[in-house]
Amino acid sequence: MTGRKSENDLLGRGWASRAACVGKPAGWWFPDSYSDVAKVHRAVAICGDCVVRAQCLAYAMSDLSARDYGIWGGTTPSQREHLVHLICRGYRS
Ligand code: SF4
Repeated sequence: MTGRKSENDLLGRGWASRAACVGKPAGWWFPDSYSDVAKVHRAVAICGDCVVRAQCLAYAMSDLSARDYGIWGGTTPSQREHLVHLICRGYRS
């Protein structure tokens, strides 16, 4: 799949126009397998230079349909799941 990530996933979010992934193939952020380390690292590296990384991660963490798929804010779904567990554990202590 090619095209701007913002066309399908970031629509209506003002910060998306400043995203480093705009104009790049959306598939880079939605790999078939997260075990393909080279492909995941390519997307994560771009996220690392993105000025709206925090907004992107906050969006993914707040939207269940986004949280379980794709690389958002430089994180994979398993990393976001780990974040959720850490946050929940914090609330219990
Ligand atoms: S953090 Fe990554 S996925 Fe999120 S907007 Fe920036 S480049 Fe795109």
